[in-house]
Amino acid sequence: MNLNKHDYDYLIVGSGFFGSIWAREAAETGKKVLLIERRDHIAGNMYTYSEEGITIHQYGPHIFHTDNQKVWDYVNRFTTFKNYINQVVANYRGELYNLPFNMNTFYQMWGVKTPAEAKLKIQQQQKAGQLKQEPQNLEEQAIHLIGQDIYQKLIKGYTEKQWGRKTTELPPSIIKRLPVRFTFDNNYFNHQYQGIPANGYTELFENLLDHPNIDVQINTDFFDQRKEYIKEFPKIIFTGMIDQFFDYQFGHLEYRSVRFENELVESDNVQGNAVINYTDFETPFTRSIEWRHFDKKGNQNKSILSKEYPTEWTPEKEAYYPVNDEKNTQMVNRYRSLAEEFPQFIFGGRLGEYKYYDMDQVIASALASVEKHLKE
Ligand code: UDP
Repeated sequence: MNLNKHDYDYLIVGSGFFGSIWAREAAETGKKVLLIERRDHIAGNMYTYSEEGITIHQYGPHIFHTDNQKVWDYVNRFTTFKNYINQVVANYRGELYNLPFNMNTFYQMWGVKTPAEAKLKIQQQQKAGQLKQEPQNLEEQAIHLIGQDIYQKLIKGYTEKQWGRKTTELPPSIIKRLPVRFTFDNNYFNHQYQGIPANGYTELFENLLDHPNIDVQINTDFFDQRKEYIKEFPKIIFTGMIDQFFDYQFGHLEYRSVRFENELVESDNVQGNAVINYTDFETPFTRSIEWRHFDKKGNQNKSILSKEYPTEWTPEKEAYYPVNDEKNTQMVNRYRSLAEEFPQFIFGGRLGEYKYYDMDQVIASALASVEKHLKE
C-alpha cells in the first residue's frame, strides 16, 4: 500500500497542540504535511463541542494561562480569547474553602485576618514535622508550604484519589503547581495572560490546520500500519505515548486517566461556580464542573455538569497524566535516549515527552522543536 502517494515531507501523528503547531509551521515553510488522528475529531484533549449552546470540554476543563508573550501572540493569531479568571472552590465534607491557598483560605481555616497571622500559623504547623532537608515527597512539600490542617483537608484526599497513590510516593513538583499567596486573591493561576477561546478550542485547531499544504485524516491509527508509515515517510512527528511507539521494550510507563459523568439539569445555576473540588478521600470524584460558568453562553434554563472520576490508565482508556515518580522517570529516560538514536522521529507533547505539561508549555516546546528541526 502506498500511504505517501502525495510525496508528503512530514507525517504528524496526533492533532493536539504539538502536532497541530508542527503541521502549521511546516506548511508555512512550503512543506507538505499529512496529519493523522486516531480519534474521530481533531484538537486532542482540548476538544470542545456545544450542547444546548453550552461549550463542553470533552476531556475536562482547559483554561489557558501563560506568561510567555510569544506563546500568547501565537495562539491569538488563530482565535479570539475571552478573558476568564479561574476561581476554584473546595468542598471538604460540606465545608467550603477558596483555592488556591490564599488569605481567604487561611481565614476560612483558622480565622486569621492578616498575612503575619497566617504565616505564624503555618510556621507553628511546620514545627511538628520540621524538615532537615529539601522536601522529598508531596506530603512533606505540602506541609512545608501550608501546614498540617490545609494538607489534611484540602490536599491529602484529593491527591490520593487523583493519583491513586499515597502522597508520600508522589513527587513534590505536583503540589508546587498551585500558588500559595498571602493576599486575598482567588485567581487559580499567577500568569499574566488568562482566558478561554471565545468559540471553544476546536475552532482554534480548525484554524491552525486550515492550510493548503496540510491534509488531515481522522479515525486513522498510526499503529494499524506503523511499518508502512515508517518506511514511506522521511520524517515523523509522533505525539502519542513514547513507550507504545517503542513497543514497551523497557516496560510500560504509568498514566492516570479520568472518566466523566455528565448531567443535564433544568436550572441556570446549580453550584454557583465553574469548578468545585471535592477534597475528601471518600467522594469518588475529584471535581464537579458546571460548564456554563466558563463562557456564560447557552440555554438560559439549562445547565450541564460533569463529574470527574480519576482512574488508573489501561490500554482501552485515554492517557491523561504522566506519573512522574522515580520509577517512571527512570524508564522514560531510557526511552528518550533510545529516541535520540532515530533522527527520523521527533517526539513531543504530554505523551510524547511524558511531561505534566500545561498547554502553554506544549506550545513553547512545539515552537522550539520547529525552530530546531525546520532549519536542519
Ligand atoms: N490539588 C489538591 N487539592 C485540590 C486541587 C489540587 O491537593 O483541591 C493537588 C493535586 O495533587 C493535584 C495537583 O494539586 O494533582 C495539581 O492540581 P491542578 O489543579 O493543577 O491539576 P490539573 O488541573 O492538572 O488536574
